[in-house]
Amino acid sequence: MNLRLETDAIQAAVAGIRFRTLAFIDGAFVEAQSAKTFTTENPATGKPLAQIAECDVPDVDRAVQAARKAFESGVWSRQTPADRKRVLLKFADLLEANLGELALLDTLEAGKPIGDCATMDLPDTIHCIRWHAEAIDKLYHHVSPTGPENLGLILREPVGVVGCVVPWNFPAQMAAWKIGPALATGNSIVLKPAELTSLSAIRMAELAAEAGLPAGVFNVVPGFGETAGQAIGRHPDVDLVAFTGSTEVGRYFLKYSAESNLKRILLECGGKSPQVVFADAPDLDAVAGHAVSAAFWNMGENCSCGSRLIVHKSVKDELVAKVAAVAKTWKTGDPLDPGNRLGAMIEKPHLEKVLAYIDAGRAEGARLVLGGNRILEETGGYFVEPTIFDDVSNRMKIAREEIFGPVLSVIPFSTEDEAVALANDTNYGLAASLYTRDLGTAHRVARAIRAGTVSVNCFSEGDITTPFGGFKESGFGGRDKSIWAHEQYTELKTIWMQLS
Ligand code: NAP
Ligand code: MG
Repeated sequence: MNLRLETDAIQAAVAGIRFRTLAFIDGAFVEAQSAKTFTTENPATGKPLAQIAECDVPDVDRAVQAARKAFESGVWSRQTPADRKRVLLKFADLLEANLGELALLDTLEAGKPIGDCATMDLPDTIHCIRWHAEAIDKLYHHVSPTGPENLGLILREPVGVVGCVVPWNFPAQMAAWKIGPALATGNSIVLKPAELTSLSAIRMAELAAEAGLPAGVFNVVPGFGETAGQAIGRHPDVDLVAFTGSTEVGRYFLKYSAESNLKRILLECGGKSPQVVFADAPDLDAVAGHAVSAAFWNMGENCSCGSRLIVHKSVKDELVAKVAAVAKTWKTGDPLDPGNRLGAMIEKPHLEKVLAYIDAGRAEGARLVLGGNRILEETGGYFVEPTIFDDVSNRMKIAREEIFGPVLSVIPFSTEDEAVALANDTNYGLAASLYTRDLGTAHRVARAIRAGTVSVNCFSEGDITTPFGGFKESGFGGRDKSIWAHEQYTELKTIWMQLS
């Protein structure tokens, strides 16, 4: 189903949607062994959407066994690269044929604007799967520089059973960043979606099976972090966990690994990303547009959210006025209305957390320029206005902690050294933007900022061809996207042959 982005078409599609609510293990839909379920709700209405199978230790174990059996059988892991490519391209085609439905699932469950889901998240999800698929039969192994008496082969082999534990902010896309390269390199996977957003992941596994992915290669175990997530982290037969989520939970996975089988751990975690605007920024109107996207896109529920606007004193007031003016044009409301750029916060406790940060900003003496309130309470949904604080000090709580909501802190600076020091004065290091007309400044500052991605004169995470991940407490062990993502799902093997 593809989707026309008009209210009547969207409403008709919602009325016709069917939720897949069971776990997907060994090629089939199954209930949790306990038969337990949990409720998933629509954060734009506060109303329940569906009951989802609540997987726990025995279900994870069953999924890991299925994944191991498939892996050892070679049905996927030893397929020819061209055959793996064919299946994953078919998978991408089926995702594309069902783009509208998948976009709606993410909108309904995560409160994200349908325009974003249908024109960004899902197209990027599909492109991600297709890109990794196309790479499969274009990668070569290595031969070491030996003398004639030896042959040294350096091979990349799939690691085996990969656990993927993902967050709710880009449900389909974050899953694709893991499953694309993990499947491309021949692994079997056990995916645990966030408890708040299981629906698109379950549907993706069904479509992968329809595309010809053998049973047991792609399993989905919906459930809670502390139970199903932890069971993946501690399972002795999981070879690697690829995690995206908070730094706090990321740390648990290192502990789970240390206390179990030393499984490989890849972490993509949070951020407190700076946007540094120099006095010679090329076009303050353009900067304001980027700054609003950086701060408010996806309601600020974005790991690379540019939540700290570090601006040269001489242009600060002018820029803040422009940013506020653009932010006012981003309408907040029903995520199913294609006219709205901003939807709901993911759940009530998260709404309350974001409002508490806004209170902290006021209490610490930051100057509220825009927003600051919960709105549309009568809908039952969890909406917050885009909020801007000026005169923020980088020591304030709102400048230090990841809010994961639409709250922008404006921090002034005078010199380049001061700007770099402010940008780096954080435990995080995921992303950064800088704005200047001067090539020298751009190079110097891009090199000086300790972050995995630095964008110049724009807010961007690059595209599928560029690695994405964090310095410092924003990440551990690898990178999502690009060909470097393949490396993290493979083990390096040396085969050393005596020839004479
Ligand atoms: P989260 O609370 O850390 O959860 C992430 C995943 O871990 C969920 O599937 C969660 O399950 C699971 N989990 C929670 N507690 C667990 C535990 N004790 N043991 C094992 N697994 C556990 O993160 P979130 O709230 O879903 O997402 C927001 C965070 O993700 C932000 O910090 C954001 O910056 C980060 N993020 C990073 C990137 C990146 O590429 N660097 C991209 C997107 C988001 P439940 O859902 O059941 O809690
Ligand atoms: Mg959570």
